[in-house]
Amino acid sequence: MHALAVDLGVAVNLASKVVLYDVEGPSLSLENGSSVSADLIVAADGVNSTARRTVQGGTDHPPQRTGFAAYRAVVDIDRLQGDPDIAWLLEKPSFNLWLGDKRHVMTYAIGAGKTFNMVLSHPDDGSGWDTTEEETIADMRKEFEGWDPVLSKIINMIDKTLKWPLFSGSIMNRWISGKLVVLGDAAHAMLPYMSQGAAIAVEDGVALAQALSKITSKAHIPHALSAFEKVRMQRANQMQEASLLQGKLWHFADGPAQQARDAAMRPEVEGRPFSHSPNQWSDPATQMWCYGYDAEREIDLEWDRRLKGRGDSQ
Ligand SMILES: Cc1cc2nc3c(=O)[nH]c(=O)nc-3n(C[C@H](O)[C@H](O)[C@H](O)COP(=O)(O)OP(=O)(O)OC[C@H]3O[C@@H](n4cnc5c(N)ncnc54)[C@H](O)[C@@H]3O)c2cc1C
Repeated sequence: MHALAVDLGVAVNLASKVVLYDVEGPSLSLENGSSVSADLIVAADGVNSTARRTVQGGTDHPPQRTGFAAYRAVVDIDRLQGDPDIAWLLEKPSFNLWLGDKRHVMTYAIGAGKTFNMVLSHPDDGSGWDTTEEETIADMRKEFEGWDPVLSKIINMIDKTLKWPLFSGSIMNRWISGKLVVLGDAAHAMLPYMSQGAAIAVEDGVALAQALSKITSKAHIPHALSAFEKVRMQRANQMQEASLLQGKLWHFADGPAQQARDAAMRPEVEGRPFSHSPNQWSDPATQMWCYGYDAEREIDLEWDRRLKGRGDSQ
């Protein structure tokens, strides 16, 4: 992606921390004392965004800790393939899920099938953030003690892990101020339970490019931003909610709700046809909504609605 951006003429400046935005210029000031001006500033500065505060008029509504954290780890596929208890997991490309009380583990292959990626979500009581690497691994093993022996075997192969706090963004009432727009996690941090945070950020970029392609004059940038904000806020907010809901569905303690969920998921687990599932990842209607979304088309539709409503063109 970096190479492609450079080919397209993008100048990439590293180690350039933004400390201040002027949304009308627009321009920004860097920590090193220099400043940069532009026609439009697009800030994708993540969960701890500086731009978000500016966009919201100086009062930030930062993403909130959700009471959950995740250990992320990778294991070499070759190590797993050598173990007959585990090798069956790798026979076909798939996403594997272990569910339990307030915890779940999801795994899938990455890196052209050479690496086994693991996300181990668990309750976060605020402790365990200043521990050594060895202590973090020991904590991780303790969180999933007594779970499926296959999973325990894989967890025992983890040599290194990182613990991430999980945030979910407060719903913002705007993403734009003047000629500054926020997108990605800065605008809509979400629990990673639909694995859509980065995907939605990429959709944002596609949608913004499509909205800007509609205009022929810098004077019309606010129109493009307004269409972008309307379409993307709705989409991102829905994905934030789906991610929260996924956490509820995956984290039932043993009992009637867990039994009903498991019964409803049984057809997919057994490879039988199904028309709906409480697992949103495989529920056909949710799949269509989640993966069938066309960010460019949604901007086109919104643009057409606006043109019809006004009876004019940009
Ligand atoms: C455990 C976990 C698992 C996940 N799994 C998935 C997954 O499977 N699929 C998926 O789509 N998403 C997943 N996500 C979510 C994904 O990581 C984020 O949604 C994505 O990284 C957001 O991208 P972003 O560019 O908006 O922000 P970031 O990736 O956070 O990038 C922000 C950048 O801005 C820079 N920055 C911050 N402040 C400033 C400043 N003042 N000046 C200059 N630069 C600044 C930062 O240094 C950083 O480089 C997961 C997240 C977690 C925590």
